[in-house]
Amino acid sequence: MSVVALGVPSVHRQASDPAPPCPTEGPLIDTFGRVATDLRVSLTDLCNLRCTYCMPAEGLDWMPGEQKLHADELIRLLRLAVTRLGITNVRFTGGEPLVVPHLEDVVRATAQLRPRPEITLTTNGVGLAARAEALAHAGLSRINVSLDTVDPARFKAITRRDRLDDVLAGLRAARAAGLDPVKVNAVLDPVTGLEDAVALLGFCLDEGLQLRIIEQMPLDAGHSWQRDRALSADVVLAALRAHFTLTEDPAPRGSAPAQLWQVHRGGQVAGRVGIIASVSQAFCAACDRSRLTADGQVRNCLFAREETDLRALLRTGADDDALEAAWRSAMWAKAAGHGINDPDFIQPDRPMSAIGG
Ligand code: SAM
Ligand code: SF4
Repeated sequence: MSVVALGVPSVHRQASDPAPPCPTEGPLIDTFGRVATDLRVSLTDLCNLRCTYCMPAEGLDWMPGEQKLHADELIRLLRLAVTRLGITNVRFTGGEPLVVPHLEDVVRATAQLRPRPEITLTTNGVGLAARAEALAHAGLSRINVSLDTVDPARFKAITRRDRLDDVLAGLRAARAAGLDPVKVNAVLDPVTGLEDAVALLGFCLDEGLQLRIIEQMPLDAGHSWQRDRALSADVVLAALRAHFTLTEDPAPRGSAPAQLWQVHRGGQVAGRVGIIASVSQAFCAACDRSRLTADGQVRNCLFAREETDLRALLRTGADDDALEAAWRSAMWAKAAGHGINDPDFIQPDRPMSAIGG
């Protein structure tokens, strides 16, 4: 059923207008007419790296095991999302999803859902070399590997671990397993980031990988993000342009967060680079995401300060109708934008690693 047929007031609704009643069927929509088809599923808050912009050197107070969804609970929610709520893309993330031993089983079960969703993974790539083929076999469609620099000393400084070679081996294994296009996600260091971006783009062009540079967001566990320290998309683009010829990619952007640029070498398009300006040019009006945390909370936005507890419903015997209704109401209440640039912005309590990026 179309959004129009449901009588939803669409993007023209003002935040101050009264909200119409939440629909009980059709796609997963909010009061601004946005349709959520992309579900980000965090499988764990645990991680084997300690990226400075994400978590402290000593780690965090990890979620107790019993708080996390069991595999059968997760699959039940995924079935509901795909068969009743119109989710077409499922991305597994974390924390670090590769530290979850049953990741392949979860991917396999998701691949059996109909209509079959596209299944993707965001990972730091440590340990990927040994698992890329099994993941592709289980039904993984594509993969994003986070890598902020190809310089070994800087990699160690940013992640507080000496694992660059593991990540590079993981990238090669992902390509060999046919998980194309393999994308590289980079969050740039405020001091060395521009130099890192130039070297990363050269590396990605050589290796047939697609680089996406993401503006650093106020989602670190230490709440120490500073706007004037984070590199903005414009500054990054200018630095890349000093070394590469870039032209806007003609393909329509749709709800994709990355603005894509074609990179020319020797008179030919040698690859593409994406820039995700989450802070300086927010793309909330086109957002198509819903999020499920490892402890079974639905979040309608990375920056939401409220969550809907599906785990409690699951564990007190709620039927699928009740779960569906709770998920729909959670998304219906989605705010017009993330508000990072508003004077009264308050960073959510959960850090990125416990939400799922
Ligand atoms: N551990 C996996 C990884 O690093 O790819 C998956 C989880 S991680 C939270 C997902 C993505 O969020 C990574 O690409 C990471 O660089 C990004 N990220 C983490 N903290 C961020 C922040 N404060 N601002 C922007 N992106 C961030
Ligand atoms: Fe771990 Fe990913 Fe956070 Fe780095 S960004 S600490 S790899 S969860």
